[in-house]
Amino acid sequence: MVVGDVTTAVSTLIVGAGPGGYVAAIRAAQLGQSVTMVVDGPLGGTCLNRGCIPLKALVSASRRFRQLNDESLQTMGIQTGTTSFDWGKMQAWKTGVVERLSGGVEKLLAGHKIEIVHGLGWFLNERELRVEGEYGSHRLAFEKCLLATGASPCELPGLPFGENVLSPQQALALSELPASINVVGDDYIALELASLYGNLGVATTLLTKGDKLLPEVEPAAMRLVQAGLRKLGVQVVTNAQWLKMAAGELVYEAGGQEKRLAGPVVVSGGIQPNTDKLNLKEAGVKTGRNGEITVNPAQVTNLPDILAVGDVTGQIALASVAYKQARVAAETLDGRKVAYDPQAVPIVVHTTPELAYTGLSAEAARLEGFEVVTGRFPLAANSRGLTLNSENGVALVVAEKGSGLLLGMTIVGLQAGDLIMEASLGIEMGATLTDLAEILHPHPGLGEMTLESVESAMGLAIHTL
Ligand SMILES: Cc1cc2nc3c(=O)[nH]c(=O)nc-3n(C[C@H](O)[C@H](O)[C@H](O)COP(=O)(O)OP(=O)(O)OC[C@H]3O[C@@H](n4cnc5c(N)ncnc54)[C@H](O)[C@@H]3O)c2cc1C
Repeated sequence: MVVGDVTTAVSTLIVGAGPGGYVAAIRAAQLGQSVTMVVDGPLGGTCLNRGCIPLKALVSASRRFRQLNDESLQTMGIQTGTTSFDWGKMQAWKTGVVERLSGGVEKLLAGHKIEIVHGLGWFLNERELRVEGEYGSHRLAFEKCLLATGASPCELPGLPFGENVLSPQQALALSELPASINVVGDDYIALELASLYGNLGVATTLLTKGDKLLPEVEPAAMRLVQAGLRKLGVQVVTNAQWLKMAAGELVYEAGGQEKRLAGPVVVSGGIQPNTDKLNLKEAGVKTGRNGEITVNPAQVTNLPDILAVGDVTGQIALASVAYKQARVAAETLDGRKVAYDPQAVPIVVHTTPELAYTGLSAEAARLEGFEVVTGRFPLAANSRGLTLNSENGVALVVAEKGSGLLLGMTIVGLQAGDLIMEASLGIEMGATLTDLAEILHPHPGLGEMTLESVESAMGLAIHTL
């Protein structure tokens, strides 16, 4: 790469190295394109460095610690004695996981001969990007450009980020664990953060302005998840209004009374697409109301040679969504006729018990005009659940009445996040209840919950009345 304020011609230019950017870069290179990547942060983006991976690492470690103290071990005849944890070591282990994965991304990009330019990029016009980085200023003239610049956490009114009000990313890097913490939000990140701190014995309050956590999820599943939070000692406050900070405390109103809570506040209040620094106007790239880059199903913006993927497009903020859009975009760049059009988006929430859902809930299906049948099977009636001494869970299925077309599945309990893929595959493939019921499921296995929830929707469940 030539250094200095000179123009370098590049073929495919990708801005951002998160799940959207690095996957698009690798797939484009696999398809024979010459790829240059501009990135102003660590490889792997939010997911790897500040999001999915650090959060899941800490939640998993905290969950294992909690399990050592769970009475279910004693029931199985296991005595653990006194247990403790070292938050500093837990953080160091998490950082090791992140570094290992980030190093892996670096090797993959190098292995595909993707040239990386470190620095912040913004448009000079619809064919050129300026990059300001450690080696000065570059002008890159591109043939095609793919934007994968992600999104940043949003502040909530009354709770600007500062010393005592943290974003989820900052909350994952706390150098010391506080005695108490308050998590504000109703999304999966808020629930996972509350579980993490609750697992470690921090006095945790989870506050939401609405009347429900994860309002899109089946209420029967959420009741189990909320019971799990309560078991960890997490206080859930719904309908919390007028949240603000005063004298270092969180002040809010609930049930007509003003209340105060000590301890840092973590706000998981949505995200804002990272488009403000891109100078999109100079290029003529159109954005939507929240600043998101609008794209068609082939991931192309209003300009035929500029594409966008991931959080910056305002789609549901998931790495899995960014990964898929990235593959679609790379193939579009290769001239193929492809589209991002998933029939089901599986979502996993790493609470205890774990929650996973895909497709439509019964209520959402009805709102879409389906006449539905539903089925349920409790983990307490699943033999593998009993051999694992874990009874807290359920599988809930939704299908179209008559045709039996599978529409949605929700699973609560051990390994729900892995079990959900059977239903997701089924929905993608247009499977019916009969299709799922015809498949042999290993015994004893947690997957039998899925089978029997399907049979229950058909009125044929064996192991429940
Ligand atoms: C706490 C937390 C937990 C999460 N957990 C999960 C989870 O369990 N599962 C899941 O699927 N998703 C999870 N997510 C969401 C997931 O992290 C994002 O959906 C995903 O990272 C989006 O990928 P992306 O490539 O669109 O953007 P990002 O990962 O944000 O990457 C954006 C990239 O663009 C670069 N960049 C931005 N602007 C510029 C510029 N002007 N010039 C050059 N480079 C630029 C950044 O440095 C970065 O490399 C979580 C998010 C958070 C915050």
